[in-house]
Amino acid sequence: MEMNDPRGVADLHAHTWYSDGKHPPQDLVRMAAAAGLTHLAVTDHETVGGIAEAMSAAADAGIEVVPGIEFATRIKTIEIHVVGLWIDPENDAIAEAVASVHDERRVRAERMLAKLNALGVRIGMEDVLRVVGKGAISRPHVAQALVETGAVAKFEEAFARYLGRHGSAYVPRRNFSPAEAIKAVHDAGGVAVLAHGLIGGPGREHVARIAKEGLDAVEAVHPKLGDADRAWLRGFARKNGLGISGGSDWHGAGWSEGEIGDYAITGEELRDLETRRKRSGKETPERLPTDNGIEPRRGG
Ligand code: AMP
Ligand code: MN
Ligand code: MN
Ligand code: MN
Repeated sequence: MEMNDPRGVADLHAHTWYSDGKHPPQDLVRMAAAAGLTHLAVTDHETVGGIAEAMSAAADAGIEVVPGIEFATRIKTIEIHVVGLWIDPENDAIAEAVASVHDERRVRAERMLAKLNALGVRIGMEDVLRVVGKGAISRPHVAQALVETGAVAKFEEAFARYLGRHGSAYVPRRNFSPAEAIKAVHDAGGVAVLAHGLIGGPGREHVARIAKEGLDAVEAVHPKLGDADRAWLRGFARKNGLGISGGSDWHGAGWSEGEIGDYAITGEELRDLETRRKRSGKETPERLPTDNGIEPRRGG
């Protein structure tokens, strides 16, 4: 796998400690600016918690933060991640989707812990909550808690034995469909993107299906994508009128292959994505052109 075009200017996929990243939003913004990027999207899993801090840090750093989110969705057992870009973090559709995911994740974690306890592993919710940052509980948190309580020697072992799809304490998530995620992103004014292209589950047939469900773009730039997949994704986007997005999917040093700045889309790709933004119900009046081109008055 090679690095992306070094002239890339926008990293549109990265995680802070508001989900499963290791760093505060300010660190990511600083790194993006140091790498010479003009835009960084904060796309935490199922939370918009880090966006405000990132935006205020960005004002000082002289770069632009794109408010984003990443939803894990599924078609049957296939996991498909949808990134929303330029979402209004205060939009009700996003808030509702986030709240339902958080509730469901909490119940699921309790069920995984019950299975672990039944297998003789002594671990409690307090052990998991110690490693959860500010976001929802995910399997990596449970895996880390299993390491820290000494139940397994290594993070990977937690997945191999217990938490992976074939692990003995695995509990699937409720099916939040790609179409539901795309709708929430659109309702919040955003651009819906297939995260990490064909990595992590989706086959080409799934990409074609969700393209029909309103997807706006695909990530064709990502540290885990090989040359063949990247080429296919770019061809698919061109043939189907979709945009190209991508980024480092950074979670912190050692957790991700890509560094911020190494995987970025070009200015041309960025401008194309921006034209795909939807109107959100709560968009500020000055960003909404009227039919006659005259700006509506505020407060009306
Ligand atoms: P969850 O959303 O709670 O199901 O957790 C999904 C996350 O767990 C993924 O985004 C990966 O970061 C991580 N993960 C899933 N499978 C594995 C695995 N076999 N080894 C390590 N991490 C994994
Ligand atoms: Mn993650
Ligand atoms: Mn993902
Ligand atoms: Mn991600």
